[in-house]
Amino acid sequence: MATGSCSCGAIRYDLVSAPMFVHCCHCLDCQKQTGGAFAINALIEADRVHVLEGEPEAVSMPTESGKPHVISRCPKCKVALWSIYGGREQVRFIRVSTLDAPHAIKPDVHIFTRSKVPWVGLPADARVFDVYYDTKKEWPSESLARRQAAMAKS
Ligand SMILES: [Zn+2]
Ligand SMILES: [Zn+2]
Repeated sequence: MATGSCSCGAIRYDLVSAPMFVHCCHCLDCQKQTGGAFAINALIEADRVHVLEGEPEAVSMPTESGKPHVISRCPKCKVALWSIYGGREQVRFIRVSTLDAPHAIKPDVHIFTRSKVPWVGLPADARVFDVYYDTKKEWPSESLARRQAAMAKS
């Protein structure tokens, strides 16, 4: 469905289907960790991400909440490819900007907009959340079913 890589090309991966849901996260952690105004994360089942080349290294990040956040990075250029939050290995948060066609994926929701960079404007039809949202309300039913199936695997 989509291929991606780090900056140096040592890691190449692909996604075998469309993601379940896509976040544009405006939290301060994402701003610091990317050096940008936000991070775009595509949420997809771990077994739908195939590493084609190389072996990413797992780096544990400090978080405000204290819940674990592990980033998989290229061991050479250290670019972040995806995250696992809260120890939930079954779902990966793919950094959409590492895809070969990153603009093909649009965010479903904007989260943590309480810390949005003030000069970044959002589209009028954007679904915007100060902090987080209720998954059951916002996700399409087929994505909820996929998530449930993924979480049932240990
Ligand atoms: Zn690299
Ligand atoms: Zn964030």
